Amino acid sequence: MRSLSIFGATGSIGEQTVDLMQRAGGAEAFRVVALTGGRNLSRLAEMARTLRAEVAVCADVSDLAELRERLAGSGVAAAAGPEAIAEAAERQADWVMSAIVGAAGLLPGLRALQHGSTLALANKESLVTAGPLLMAEATRHGARILPVDSEHSAIFQALVGEDIGSVERIILTASGGALRDWPLDRLATATVQDALAHPNWAMGQRITIDSASMFNKALEVIETREFFGVAPDQIEVIIHPESLIHSMVGYRDGAIMAHLGAPDMRHSIGYALNWPERSHLPVARLDLAQIGQMTFRAPDLARYPALRLAREVMARRGLAGAAFNAAKEVALDHFLAGGIGFMDMAGVVEATLESLDDDLGSGTARMTLEEVQSADHLARTRAGEIARRRAGER
Ligand code: NAD
Ligand code: MG
Repeated sequence: MRSLSIFGATGSIGEQTVDLMQRAGGAEAFRVVALTGGRNLSRLAEMARTLRAEVAVCADVSDLAELRERLAGSGVAAAAGPEAIAEAAERQADWVMSAIVGAAGLLPGLRALQHGSTLALANKESLVTAGPLLMAEATRHGARILPVDSEHSAIFQALVGEDIGSVERIILTASGGALRDWPLDRLATATVQDALAHPNWAMGQRITIDSASMFNKALEVIETREFFGVAPDQIEVIIHPESLIHSMVGYRDGAIMAHLGAPDMRHSIGYALNWPERSHLPVARLDLAQIGQMTFRAPDLARYPALRLAREVMARRGLAGAAFNAAKEVALDHFLAGGIGFMDMAGVVEATLESLDDDLGSGTARMTLEEVQSADHLARTRAGEIARRRAGER
């Protein structure tokens, strides 16, 4: 029986992973090792009972007593806190889903790779923050990473049986997010509610706002560079409002392989869960005649400064990715709290990167976990200062 753990089990990706597991037989079909969650203890305990997990871990130490109580008599062990989450990744599992949101997902993913687990990677932040480290550890321990981000799963599938050396370009599709049709001069006034109205995908709150600002696409461009090892100038972004093509690979003979499907994350979660086989998935089938047409347009960099910043981060590499992601997380926190405006997020990230110019080093792709964590910490502190200053000026 295959053993399996889910980090971030109570989130949007985690729930959809659990859904596919339940449909495939649940506790009868998988040996569930660890399930982790944030603050939704009742849901975490419920899943852990149903799937008969060995251990359930919540993010906050102060929630441990309640989690224990909720698991009483179930035979599921309870644990809490970031260290317990990282420790849970040391429990041997064949397949591990990394679906915590943000840089907090890095450590458990890294530990899982170091134990040779196959890592289904939804947490793109870990590749942006520490791509070279993650890829090197995977190679060192003979562990495989399967991308779960829909674009990267699409690219991965379009590469099956092909030689990466014959790839000319990778074309990432983007929906354009909730505000894609807003006049440029109104964007600065967009509220959290406005940015949450995603046209196609139902996702967690943070990634939905990152889609509206295209910080999500910026992270994905860097994720593409790190995971597939292509050069930055081989990566293109195109707005495709219908979100039916999930991304494309262009080969040197001019052929383009595209992956199409309904906008449902269970495509890519299911592909990673069943890989290398394909199993039936409960996703809508496309009726192309009814869809009629698909449209495309080039992204406007004035509207999406995050895309320009991603290019700068890739040119610099080193610890710039860790700083970029951390500053983005802090800027998003301040936008969510109402301190800064929608367009200020990119301003905060850019100012943070500029102010850390001397501290990030450059040119090298080698890094230690300690260096990554220290760049992350430095950027969070700096971005917080800059965001508070901007909030004061508003
Ligand atoms: P979400 O907010 O719905 O869920 C996040 C999960 O992580 C929850 O279980 C939450 O409790 C937990 N969590 C949050 N902060 C934590 C912390 N500090 N420590 C431990 N656990 C913590 O997020 P999501 O939308 O499911 O996204 C998860 C990851 O997958 C992100 O990296 C996101 O970029 C990526 N992703 C998501 C989608 C999607 O459709 N939702 C698509 C592509 C990629
Ligand atoms: Mg994506």
